[in-house]
Amino acid sequence: MTSIADTADEPRSVWRSIRRGAAFKCPSCGEGQIFRKYLKITDNCSQCGEELHHHRADDAPPYFTIFIVGHMVVPAMLWIEMSYRPDVWVHAAIWGPLTLALTLTILPITKGTVVGMQWAVRMHGFGGQED
Ligand SMILES: [Zn+2]
Repeated sequence: MTSIADTADEPRSVWRSIRRGAAFKCPSCGEGQIFRKYLKITDNCSQCGEELHHHRADDAPPYFTIFIVGHMVVPAMLWIEMSYRPDVWVHAAIWGPLTLALTLTILPITKGTVVGMQWAVRMHGFGGQED
C-alpha cells in the first residue's frame, strides 16, 4: 500500500520528517504512530497507510544514543568527581541509573529520527524501488 504523497516524486522535507520521526509520528502524515512496540517500527501507518517496513535503521540509533548519552554523562561525572570527590558507591548510585534512564529515553527518539530521515531521502525502498 502506498500513500497519496508517495505516488508523486515530490520532494520530501528532511527536517519535517526527522521532527515527526523523533516525535514517534509517521514521517509522511505526522498523525499515525511510527512504533507498534518500544522499538518496533509499524509496517504501515495507521492513518495514511504509508509503508514504514522499508527502514534499515540497524546500528545507527544505538550509535547516536551512545554518543549523546556519553557526552551528557561523562562531563557531568567528571565535574562531580573534581568538585566533590564523592565515594565510588555514590558515583555508581547516580550514574548507573541515570545512564540507563537516558539511554532508554533517547534510543526510540534516535530510531524515529533515523527512520524519518531514511523516508525523506527515499532510502531502502521508501522511494518505491527496491534497493
Ligand atoms: Zn502516516
